[in-house]
Amino acid sequence: AKAAGRNTHWMFEAKAHARTAARSSLALDMKEAIRRGDFFLVYQPIIDVTTGSVVSFEALMRWRHPEHGLISPGEFIAVAEETGLIVPLGAWALKEACREAVYWPEPLCVSVNVSTVQFRGGLEEAVIAALASSGLAAQRLKLEVTESLLAQNPEQAVAVLHRLRAIDVHIALDDFGTGYSSMSYLRRFPFHLLKIDRAFIRDIADPDAAAIVRAMVGIGERLGMGIIAEGVETAEQLELVRREGCKQVQGYLFSKPLPAVEARAFARSGRAQ
Ligand code: C2E
Ligand code: CA
Ligand code: CA
Ligand code: CA
Repeated sequence: AKAAGRNTHWMFEAKAHARTAARSSLALDMKEAIRRGDFFLVYQPIIDVTTGSVVSFEALMRWRHPEHGLISPGEFIAVAEETGLIVPLGAWALKEACREAVYWPEPLCVSVNVSTVQFRGGLEEAVIAALASSGLAAQRLKLEVTESLLAQNPEQAVAVLHRLRAIDVHIALDDFGTGYSSMSYLRRFPFHLLKIDRAFIRDIADPDAAAIVRAMVGIGERLGMGIIAEGVETAEQLELVRREGCKQVQGYLFSKPLPAVEARAFARSGRAQ
């Protein structure tokens, strides 16, 4: 038993080592990939349920790796954050998303996810540069942030958020309901939008989950914030989120994230091709 225990321990260390090695090689590849232009964005429509038309697209990052193929952000964003590479990568995403959104009819918007690390790395300058180089009106850019931002350095974060608000860039609180102190943040930060996390929508056939969604919608409305339900996959979920008062929805029921050319066609026709 003792030998087996040691063996398990050894395997555990070997795995952890392999994981560390894989991460550091990913970090090296990432530098090269930014330079080479192997990252690209896909765009998922956000739909107004009352009109059925697209109001915005969320930009989501993808990495076409020369050996490993397509890598999703779930695998590389954490590495980019740990190494600080998220700062240039995030600045690139802002530029690219604004450049693309210029091709969509007004007043369609683009939402870009921003990491906490970017707030310490000149986010405001990156936003201003992206708007200036693309010519996109500031009201058409939205930033999606998560609560972790606010937990780490709230004073700095709130100052940056207020300055972004002053130049008319709107802020969405992403994954709403998954953090542990959402309610206190809602009073302190100038969000324009709340995105209800997919977990609540997945379970919305359960009356308890539905009650929580309704309460979140109520809070958003009372605070003058728009509400987006994330991860709507079925007609039944759509019906239920609508019943609870959500006015904007996003999810596979309408469309997966689309390559830029397809998003452009969607933007111009208002629907999937
Ligand atoms: P998120 O911001 O919560 O984005 C929504 C995720 O849910 C996306 O995964 C999207 O493809 C997926 N999704 C959308 N509709 C559905 C649905 O109906 N069902 C299911 N099961 N999933 C759906 P994706 O693209 O893999 O992105 C994962 C996360 O990576 C994002 O979560 C975001 O936190 C992060 N991320 C993506 N792009 C960026 C980026 O440019 N910068 C930063 N900092 N983070 C990013
Ligand atoms: Ca998001
Ligand atoms: Ca989300
Ligand atoms: Ca998420």
